[in-house]
Amino acid sequence: MHRDPQAVAARLADSAARNQRRQRRVIEAYPRSGDGSQAIVAGKPRRIFCSNDYLGLAHHPALASAQALASAAFGSGSSAAHLISGHSSEHHALEEELAAYTGRERALLFSTGYMANLGVLGAYAARGEVVLEDRLNHASLIDGARLAGARLLRYAHADAGDAAARLAEHGNCTLLATDGLFSMDGDVAPLRDLAAAAVAQRAWLLVDDAHGLGVLGAGGGGALELAGLDATAAPLLMGTLGKAFGCFGAFVAGDQDVIELLLQQARTYIYTTALPPGVAAAARAALALAQRESWRREHLRQLIGRFRRGAAALQLPITASTSPIQPLLVGADARAARLGEALFERGFWVGAIRAPTVPAGAARLRITLSAAHSQADVEALLEALDREWRREAAP
Ligand code: PMP
Repeated sequence: MHRDPQAVAARLADSAARNQRRQRRVIEAYPRSGDGSQAIVAGKPRRIFCSNDYLGLAHHPALASAQALASAAFGSGSSAAHLISGHSSEHHALEEELAAYTGRERALLFSTGYMANLGVLGAYAARGEVVLEDRLNHASLIDGARLAGARLLRYAHADAGDAAARLAEHGNCTLLATDGLFSMDGDVAPLRDLAAAAVAQRAWLLVDDAHGLGVLGAGGGGALELAGLDATAAPLLMGTLGKAFGCFGAFVAGDQDVIELLLQQARTYIYTTALPPGVAAAARAALALAQRESWRREHLRQLIGRFRRGAAALQLPITASTSPIQPLLVGADARAARLGEALFERGFWVGAIRAPTVPAGAARLRITLSAAHSQADVEALLEALDREWRREAAP
């Protein structure tokens, strides 16, 4: 696109015409201290059913006080990259605790999950090498392969048979990457079969468990805990700190040398400022709570069950997802946008997810549940969904 203001305006108009124009909503306050499940937007309280704060930790006072203490001691910012002077004892301890949590030798912090994925793909896939990915993988996994100059092949969603067939067909695959828990569908990847396929081809398996870690499995070990896979079967595990752990940032966990290679060569690790030390301290507090307070996972499971039973009884188009990500399949972008707007007016904030985030025609309401919700929150949401769904369906 040349420097042409009209071309910019035309592109914006085009995305608006396709109902794909996004807008931000401004949170003015959280009305209940220590509780992130409601926010004031445009002057009114809205119950939040679109955040990734699955364990309800983002507003926990222990995180805020750990953050404040560490910021006072180590500074509000880290002031440099990890390999220069940005790596504090808070970062170091967090890495050790994340390694222990994931049952791996080592973990390395990245500033965001997006950067972690770019870093891993850049370090482990060379130009021209084959990288195989699930068709519905997160954008950062796709972009990482593109940025590495790898030959990106994609297999049918959550289809380990198709993955194995493509591996066999193309040979020489360097890396197989998948989301652990898929962010827009809420389903879990067939990790055992994918791991077997990757091992058979001597390909690295990268599991991005941004949404599963802390949530899935009795101990919150994520999709890999559910699948019973260790670092031998799944050598590269990416996790984020901005979802179930309520903070910000990300990490990759694996064996000693696997991680050392990232430290030495991942460009998104080397050439960026380390997370603020206070964020690392808050993440340590979150990790401790996520382990100690297993009632959060239990409560969440009950809310998921309540939502699914209620939605099924109302004949809403739920999927098979049993995770906190509960999509309601709507179809057309415009319809998803209208429903999202109507629910918002009623005080319920859900995600209206449209193309290109999901394939065209697969628009949905992405409803996420959190341990911060109560049964009453879920019941109120079901009631609002019922009304708006029927209103939308009425001639
Ligand atoms: N992977 C997945 C599956 C995600 O959903 C996200 C965040 N939406 C990321 C990676 C990126 O993580 P971050 O937000 O920390 O950049």
